[in-house]
Amino acid sequence: MNTLADEIAALIDAEGPMPVATFMGLALGHPTKGYYIKQDPLGKAGDFITAPEISQMFGELIGVCFADYWQRTGAPAPIRLVELGPGRGTLMADMIRAMRVLPQMREALSVHLVETSPALRERQRASLDACGQQATWHNSFDQVPDDAPLFLVANEFFDALPVTQFACHAGKFHLRTIANDGPGRFRFALSAAMKVPQELLPAQMPQDGDILETCPPACAITGEIARRIAKSGGIALIIDYGHEGPAFGDTLQAVRQHQFAPVLETPGDADLTAHVDFTPLKSEAQRHGCIALGTVTQGKFLRDLGLEARAARLAQAHPESAQDIAAARSRLMDDNEMGRLFKVMAIIQAGAPSPAGFAA
Ligand code: SAH
Repeated sequence: MNTLADEIAALIDAEGPMPVATFMGLALGHPTKGYYIKQDPLGKAGDFITAPEISQMFGELIGVCFADYWQRTGAPAPIRLVELGPGRGTLMADMIRAMRVLPQMREALSVHLVETSPALRERQRASLDACGQQATWHNSFDQVPDDAPLFLVANEFFDALPVTQFACHAGKFHLRTIANDGPGRFRFALSAAMKVPQELLPAQMPQDGDILETCPPACAITGEIARRIAKSGGIALIIDYGHEGPAFGDTLQAVRQHQFAPVLETPGDADLTAHVDFTPLKSEAQRHGCIALGTVTQGKFLRDLGLEARAARLAQAHPESAQDIAAARSRLMDDNEMGRLFKVMAIIQAGAPSPAGFAA
């Protein structure tokens, strides 16, 4: 059987070097051979572990944050509870369990999961069945009904959306592409020089080799989220590793079995991600009349939501797991773990109260 690398090589032979975004889109989302499409990559036995897979506390605190926000914005009904890229469904299940404290909220909500991977949809269904929650699946966010306040969370979803890269060469920017480099090998290449959008450019002068990244799908989805929140209310929490640009830098990375791997070597068999630049996402939210809060670091966000107290209570109830709970708390919050690299941004309606976790 042809591998995905063979298919990509044939495409490049036929049509010429492909933009980085096309390569990334195929590596992750090819209809049969894409990384997320054909397998469940999460967990110890997989390639990487995410915050909700580290501890139930992560999803519980986000559930409590949403429950508090729902109450403080007048307990609207109905509402759409949406997750983009829900992985194994762990975060959604933990949120739903935490929302048990507000039976009226559970009555008011319908759950919508935006997921392209058949393998992961099955995992999500099992997680939600276990907590007695029905859900509807969609291939893209614009298919979620647009008729009610939105309570939306996306954890490590935006980093999986294809980035476009430009590289500086001889004083000019060029679209960065991927070319064939002999049988079974790829290399980076450059297309003709082109103008890059002004807002991508940092203040300092570009040097040869500098790289700029932009993620048009992330901007489009954020714009649609903000348009809906401006119209109907609600909140979106976007959680990911990243920064607030503009900045030069090549952040494309591949991870396989918990180790960094060469980016171009095994398309479809390694996770391929790029850091999220939150600046254009904030601009999109504001352009639609919403308020963008943050970013705050994941460590500060979880501390403000009470992770330390939650960990202490959990350890008291399960003394046999106290060490694991302490380890999970450090992993989620500490600066040298996920606490500083991961950032949280909220989108809310203009004039609406600020959610918990975004205190000055
Ligand atoms: N949020 C989960 C999983 C993160 S992995 C967690 O924190 O554990 C990325 C998730 O996004 C996976 O569920 C993957 O299948 C999904 N995904 C990636 N690209 C997508 C796309 N373009 N549309 C919908 N889902 C996508």
